[in-house]
Amino acid sequence: MKVRNPRTGKADYEITPLDAEQVALEAKRLAGAQSDWCTQTPEHRAKILLQWADGIEANLGNIVQALIADTGRGAISKIEAAGVPGQIRRWAKAAPALIKAGEASDQSTSVPTITTSTRLVPYPVVGVISPWNFPMTLALIDAIPALMAGCAVMIKPSEITPRFIKPLVDTVTAIPELSAVLSIVEGDGNTGAAMVGQVDYVCFTGSVATGRKVGEAAAAAFIPASLELGGKDPMIVLASADPVRAASTALRSSIVNTGQACQSIERVYVAEQIAAEFFASLVEQAEAVELNYPDIDRGHIGPFIFGKQAEIAQSQIDDALAKGAELLAGGKVEELGGGKYLRPTIIANITSEMAVVSDENFGPVIPVRVFHDIDEAVMMANHSDFGLSASVIAGSTKEAEMVASQLNVGAVSINDGSLTSMVWEAEKSSFGYSGLGASRMGDSGMMRFFRKKVLIRQTGDAAKIEAFAEENF
Ligand code: NAD
Repeated sequence: MKVRNPRTGKADYEITPLDAEQVALEAKRLAGAQSDWCTQTPEHRAKILLQWADGIEANLGNIVQALIADTGRGAISKIEAAGVPGQIRRWAKAAPALIKAGEASDQSTSVPTITTSTRLVPYPVVGVISPWNFPMTLALIDAIPALMAGCAVMIKPSEITPRFIKPLVDTVTAIPELSAVLSIVEGDGNTGAAMVGQVDYVCFTGSVATGRKVGEAAAAAFIPASLELGGKDPMIVLASADPVRAASTALRSSIVNTGQACQSIERVYVAEQIAAEFFASLVEQAEAVELNYPDIDRGHIGPFIFGKQAEIAQSQIDDALAKGAELLAGGKVEELGGGKYLRPTIIANITSEMAVVSDENFGPVIPVRVFHDIDEAVMMANHSDFGLSASVIAGSTKEAEMVASQLNVGAVSINDGSLTSMVWEAEKSSFGYSGLGASRMGDSGMMRFFRKKVLIRQTGDAAKIEAFAEENF
């Protein structure tokens, strides 16, 4: 299967997707090794994962080069890869205490002679199916805590960005105890679909359309699914906000990584009192943004990673303009050196009938609408099938939090945007079509990979059948 290079548009890489039979064999191999892995102490598993963190750091140069080729962007690839050892170390440190706390022994019950002890039983094999926008982070975000829990893991990264797999696999094979329980495979949608039938728990990150298929297949296979899907995050800018700072935050949160982030700000609602200053500053700041072209080491935003995403972004812009929206900046996908680029695009006079307001754009596009009172802003922000996250900018934290409490989303950034990309400690749910299942953030990120088994201990006399004799009642 040929893989396109996002900077040149040329197919310069190839993968060999695993077929269903190979997936089944791999799952069987992992399940065999997991029975030993899960009996090791959490401290031992932590030790092995810490070796892996060191190995990734030692091979960081190769991994980063592959990620850059996958995504066509420099700085974010470096940040992405460099963050992984830290994630591993965080889980290695936290997991032993969390597991100990979860395995409560000798708990009293409402029956004085009965006590209980809880045992945590990891799901044997966890399947991870990941997207192309942060290829390495999203391949590993669920895999690391699952391994710490004592599961074996099969990861299938996106076929759009598979170059980082080989240098990452090199770091796994260097540690035989890890490679026994961790497999990172090349594959496409068929490989992903085959995985769902072979694993005991599936973690999927990707689009709503595919997430629905994975959820249905997981239900048919009777396994739990964590679905982390798309978003259409709103930002509300209240009249008390500083319009220039709010514009800077709106811009960064909408266009960083060329807008290819689930937690991107995809709609902005600004109070009419400060709208003129906000628009003027947003346009000025947007026009100062430079493409990472032709020099990848300069500028702020790179090409679309997935060529078809550029067409989706363009069609939403065209649809909005045809329906009466006003273009204030950007607006046309440019083909440069074979890559597809879009300068920050600001669209005003938007309505909820436009696809750019209702559907995920995943490009550096900022639709902005002016509101007249806060209830109207909240109503428009909540008018969405999605409920991933949101942002409120105000003159005070208190005022922003009052609005935040009315938003139907799983996370709200207060006086900033997209903070879920920076802070992973707090648990959060995805509302609406943005996802299903336990939080991948916070302690639940690992605890969801355990089933709970309780040992119920009778220390007195077991009841006799006479206790249920009809004549005694
Ligand atoms: P996608 O749904 O097209 O593909 C995701 C993965 O699913 C790929 O690995 C693909 O090979 C695989 N796949 C395709 N068909 C499958 C099937 N029938 N069964 C099993 N697997 C299958 O998504 P994408 O375009 O790669 O990613 C972009 C989407 O991901 C956006 O909607 C974005 O918002 C979302 N996303 C969500 C989060 C989050 O945390 N909520 C994070 C990042 C990205």
